[in-house]
Amino acid sequence: MGSLSSPVDSTKPFNPIDPTELVVESSLVTNFIAEYYQTLEHRPVQPDVTPGFLTVQLPSEAPLASESVESILQDVYDKILPGLTHWQSPNFHAYFPITCSNAGLLGEMLCSGLNVVGFAWSASPAATELEQVVVDWMGKMMGLPQGLLFSGGGGGVLQGSTCEAVVCTLAAARDRALERVGDDMFNKLVVYCSDQTHFSLKKGSKLVGIRPANVKAIKTTKNNEYGLCPTDLRDLVASDVKAGFIPIYLCGTIGTTAFGAVDPIRELGKVAREFNMWFHVDAAYAGSACICPEFRNYMDGVELVDSFSTNPHKWLLSNMDCCFLWLSDPKRLINSLAAEANYLEGGNETMVDYKDWQIAVSRRFRAIKLWMVIRRYGITNLMSHIRSDVSMAKRFEELMLSDRRFEVVFPRKFSLVCFKLRGNKDDVPESVDEDCGLSRDSELTRELMASVNSSGKAFLSGVTIGSLFFIRCAIGATLTEDRHIEGLWKLIQEKADEICVDHDLEFRV
Ligand SMILES: *Cc1c(COP(=O)(O)O)cnc(C)c1O
Repeated sequence: MGSLSSPVDSTKPFNPIDPTELVVESSLVTNFIAEYYQTLEHRPVQPDVTPGFLTVQLPSEAPLASESVESILQDVYDKILPGLTHWQSPNFHAYFPITCSNAGLLGEMLCSGLNVVGFAWSASPAATELEQVVVDWMGKMMGLPQGLLFSGGGGGVLQGSTCEAVVCTLAAARDRALERVGDDMFNKLVVYCSDQTHFSLKKGSKLVGIRPANVKAIKTTKNNEYGLCPTDLRDLVASDVKAGFIPIYLCGTIGTTAFGAVDPIRELGKVAREFNMWFHVDAAYAGSACICPEFRNYMDGVELVDSFSTNPHKWLLSNMDCCFLWLSDPKRLINSLAAEANYLEGGNETMVDYKDWQIAVSRRFRAIKLWMVIRRYGITNLMSHIRSDVSMAKRFEELMLSDRRFEVVFPRKFSLVCFKLRGNKDDVPESVDEDCGLSRDSELTRELMASVNSSGKAFLSGVTIGSLFFIRCAIGATLTEDRHIEGLWKLIQEKADEICVDHDLEFRV
């Protein structure tokens, strides 16, 4: 660790924001993080620990006296780091990447250092206005329609997560529907999604009181590339309406969690309009890719949405946490979420009071982080960051396709590659719906993933759909370079060789 020493002096009066201490101690932490990033690729991505490993190492009582930053950092190094899954490791390819950057970290420091709470415009005017500027910037960067931007009569907000964005928009959709049909119809309200929609929709629906049975997930198929089929949706909604149900909300996804699949936004939007449903699009992961024009075709029809959300902490170098939510008619959200308290001076029509755009009243100054990231890197660098991840994923997919033992189970759209091992010696045609030796393949694929992950040299995650188990390789940790992808491919091949020997498998070349 660094050589600076932390000037904790117990004879001095307690001053938790002593500026001299701040400069010294923050550089201790910065050095610590820099060294962590530098050495991260050599750490096993997942920890080798058993439950309780940390608890037994730490005192059960909080300290009475002050401790130095050095000794705390020493414990982070000795006790915490070995128990972490290293999400920033260049060899982390599980779930979706949660990217970080220097600018993202500096932005977080400003957010935390200024520590203002812009719940209303008047509570910190620049915090609110900067957020308005940044949500419009990002909307324009992604090519969102004018109608979702402040400058076009809509507007946006920065929240912490997609789940929060979903809860807020569900509440608005619920209240809009109840206004129309009356409160006693509450149990008839229905929310629609696909079986690939992120479970945050189910969670959110529960929170706003929708009966779990009234959250209807339409089955997707390989034929539809795991997208929500508009005809299936229309049929189901129409028959529900006949049966006396009230459709209130449809969730489409750009970049599903399992496959990175894309729902047909325009066609879904038309069904939503026809039945007067709120149409939300969740682009938590893939939304960031839309800053590159070549990905905007996936947003075709986005002018039909009521709301759209994306998490730049996933793919846009914006350290946890941050979710953009845009709305075509923010008034409807405000109607549901506004609750005046007499100690809060009500704003006027022209000022945005962000407490009415989210769950909590208090809020973080996330806008300054996004402003830092976007300004520090510029759109050009952000685009090349996305493109470089996509091209690494393309390279990885090509390597997979060149080896007959592997099958890419879904054509890659972004930087997620889904694959499995083929255990069958014969060229049996396979589909996800029929089990042609699928369970056998799934078993071998599971074994492959376990052996890659337990090597500590990479971390992949898997998904089970019906009898199919496949591995997801999500490329895009900030530190990942071409050489890591080559290394990963070698590692996967080695482990596959071992499995082939163990199971006495042969492949026709
Ligand atoms: C990651 C992800 C989410 C999770 O959202 P939170 O921000 O953690 O609530 C939701 N939807 C999709 C498609 C995701 O990829």
